[in-house]
Amino acid sequence: MVPRPSEVYLFSSHDLPRRSGEMREYSFDITVPERVGIDVIAVLGGEDIHVEMRLESVSEGVLVSADISAIADGECMRCLEPIELDIDRRIQELYRYEPQKAHTKAERKRAREEADDLDDDDDLMMDGDFINLETPIRDAIVLDLPINPLCTLDCAGLCAGCGVKWSLLPSDHAHELIDPRWAGLPDLGEQ
Ligand SMILES: [Zn+2]
Ligand SMILES: [Zn+2]
Repeated sequence: MVPRPSEVYLFSSHDLPRRSGEMREYSFDITVPERVGIDVIAVLGGEDIHVEMRLESVSEGVLVSADISAIADGECMRCLEPIELDIDRRIQELYRYEPQKAHTKAERKRAREEADDLDDDDDLMMDGDFINLETPIRDAIVLDLPINPLCTLDCAGLCAGCGVKWSLLPSDHAHELIDPRWAGLPDLGEQ
């Protein structure tokens, strides 16, 4: 069975005892099924995001601290040269336990919606033993990406006349401006 795209971000915390102060560390890769990023630059589908994660039991839930690293691919906004960018981010999130009294899935869902209504804090909630890392990882990567990626800070872009990178052209490079009215005519003088 092919997992739903978001399932790759689910992490089971079942070997972490639910006693405050308990702690476990994990190191793993998430192969992303779809690109994560913005239009001009992103971690591409099929690439790995490396995660070094520590889970800590606290009274309200599980505290997740993770260093995530990945490589984003995009192109320079000025010269269209492909570029790669190292992403290194630290995320820290508290995943709250689901409300205690809820037994059935429907009750849990209702309780979760009520909790969501109470504080618009975008609190993250455990789903049973599962922690869904998708939102914090996506947010961290998107925040780390430049809106205008450049190959170098001083990239001069492309010559508007011929489309060649300025860095490859001589400094006196220029185009003769030909009057479009004459450009299409044969040279009568040579006939
Ligand atoms: Zn460039
Ligand atoms: Zn040119």
